[in-house]
Amino acid sequence: MANAIVPPLMPGSEDEMGHSLVDLLRHHAARSPQAICLAYEDEAISFQALDDRSNKVANALIAQGVQPGDRVALLDMSSPLSYELIYGCAKAGAIMMPLNWRLSAREIAAIVANGRPRVLLYAASLVSLLDEVTTPLVRINIDQDYATWRDAASAQDPCLVYAPDDAVLLLYTSGTTGQPKGVMISHRNLSFVGRTAAEAWSFSAASVNLVAMPLFHIGGIGYGMMALSQGGKTVLVRQADAKTVMDAMRRHHATHGFFVPTVIQQLVDRAEECGDVPDSMERMIYGGAAMSPTLLARALAAFGCSFSHAYGMTETSGTVISLPPEDHALDGPHAERLRSCGRPFPWVELAIMDPAQGQRVASGEVGEIWVRSGMNMRGYWENPQATAATITPDGWLRTGDAACLDADGYVYIRDRYKDMIVSGGENIYPTEIENVLHTHQAVKEVAVVGVPHPRWGETPRAFVVLKPGETVTDTALREFTRARLAHYKCPTSFVMLAALPRNASGKVLKHELRALQAEGTT
Ligand code: ADP
Repeated sequence: MANAIVPPLMPGSEDEMGHSLVDLLRHHAARSPQAICLAYEDEAISFQALDDRSNKVANALIAQGVQPGDRVALLDMSSPLSYELIYGCAKAGAIMMPLNWRLSAREIAAIVANGRPRVLLYAASLVSLLDEVTTPLVRINIDQDYATWRDAASAQDPCLVYAPDDAVLLLYTSGTTGQPKGVMISHRNLSFVGRTAAEAWSFSAASVNLVAMPLFHIGGIGYGMMALSQGGKTVLVRQADAKTVMDAMRRHHATHGFFVPTVIQQLVDRAEECGDVPDSMERMIYGGAAMSPTLLARALAAFGCSFSHAYGMTETSGTVISLPPEDHALDGPHAERLRSCGRPFPWVELAIMDPAQGQRVASGEVGEIWVRSGMNMRGYWENPQATAATITPDGWLRTGDAACLDADGYVYIRDRYKDMIVSGGENIYPTEIENVLHTHQAVKEVAVVGVPHPRWGETPRAFVVLKPGETVTDTALREFTRARLAHYKCPTSFVMLAALPRNASGKVLKHELRALQAEGTT
């Protein structure tokens, strides 16, 4: 490969597109063809192999009649195939549409009907999830036919030209706040992966990135391109249970990983119980949902590596605000910053807005987070109304999250506006109550939602999961919160559960908790 032409990397600038992901793959394949790009179970795939396989996938899709802009769906658990397919789609001008295998057959059918993929690749073990799909499409059984289908095609790069704003990924939101919507992510959006990786999270060609989140989520597929963008190695795992993750960290000498708070909780529990802490980790990135300060302090102590907090959403192509390692001091003059999700990346504009008036709120006041950058999604798939409700004509994306800003520009998230409780005219942010209950020694997990109240309109109710072997009375929990919070914020009822309902990315499904209450089952 000594004579290979190494494609030059285009210089990026703050408002210009940086390097397209496909260019980055081509670059690393030409520069270090044999370097391991993806590791999964006993498989190790080099940059050259990923480049070749994605060329074949692109040519196979084109031979299948896939036109630029067509969708190609994938129903499979995490494996290298997801990356063969996204790069293959990108090279064919198509849009990859990964399906959430934790959904029901009915939900999958609705998403397929909405996205109308031309081709669908599926794992044989998940085929029953396609029972209700009636949309016409070409089905490819991954276990039986995929390798033959791919390898029958040419390994020549089709070299199609696409525009930076063409969509390359269609991710359906998990529907924690309503019907899933297809978020269109473009080449330009994903070109920021390289900047986040190098400039914010210290990835390099020596990095080994552990990807524990499912690859139908931006925290999986997008985050999984961080090491790849720098020429480093990416390790995929099928499950995010603590043992699998710790074993993979140790086996592959992982240096980086992104974990949602529920997974951090399991990792910390295991580390504290078994002293099972791999020493290769350089950076743990946590976020995607609120994490209690108690858990964060435990995680810092257990892992002893650098930590970064990440805030973002599917609609912003992943993280846009991050708290760097140097702001993770448990004491010192700025210890309060541990409660913040950090500052926006240099290429992201941020405003805290009054959502009703559309004006900036005064410094320190709570408002909605609005962001503007090249990372904002193209829009919602065939849903101009939802797009117009989310992206303003001048390009600001309304996140729906309530937060305030301190004088140094750090963002403190309160909660989703949709989860805010209004009780007797006062705004209550459930996260604040959850953080207090998390400090109770008997409490393992907690989620607070608003329930109707004849006098106050709404009142907080806490759903609590206790640690094994612990018992506690409602009265004790009520007194605990009353000693630490204004009375109007204290839950007026407590419900003990064995587990909280969560989606695939570990977020508590608060609408299910509200529905429990509405059905009168609590
Ligand atoms: P969905 O909205 O379908 O659950 P997303 O992953 O796009 O899927 O969720 C984005 C939302 O997750 C944000 O709008 C915010 O409410 C929440 N979130 C993301 N990161 C954080 C964080 N670091 N702290 C608190 N909440 C977060």
